[in-house]
Amino acid sequence: MLDKDCIFCKIIRGEIPSSKVYEDDKMLVFKDIEPKAKVHLLAIPKNHFKLLSEMDKERSEILNYMLKKIPEIANESGLKNGYRLVINQGDDAGQTVFHLHVHILGGETLDW
Ligand code: 5GP
Ligand code: ZN
Repeated sequence: MLDKDCIFCKIIRGEIPSSKVYEDDKMLVFKDIEPKAKVHLLAIPKNHFKLLSEMDKERSEILNYMLKKIPEIANESGLKNGYRLVINQGDDAGQTVFHLHVHILGGETLDW
């Protein structure tokens, strides 16, 4: 379920410290180490997979759960005026960590 060498799996296992914002048995939300907006959070499933193309029933249920939870977490993180979700997929998108993650960006007016 978790990958031995994946940096985000290490964060889930507590082997690498992170600034946690929300955690339950299915997902973890923590602050991005190199924020690209005033508020920049990463939401990850507690289930290692790389890409949306690897979706199966269990993974899609977790992603669905995350997408329902994110508005609550965003609200509690002060993003009452809106926010942007980004899921980078592959090299052209600049994906650097191959454990599926949802960027939550906000806290300011974002350029497109
Ligand atoms: P990607 O480019 O793969 O969509 O996003 C990966 C994100 O993970 C980047 O925004 C990067 O700053 C963040 N990141 C990489 N390593 C760490 C880490 O060890 N801790 C935290 N909190 N964020 C990380
Ligand atoms: Zn992982």
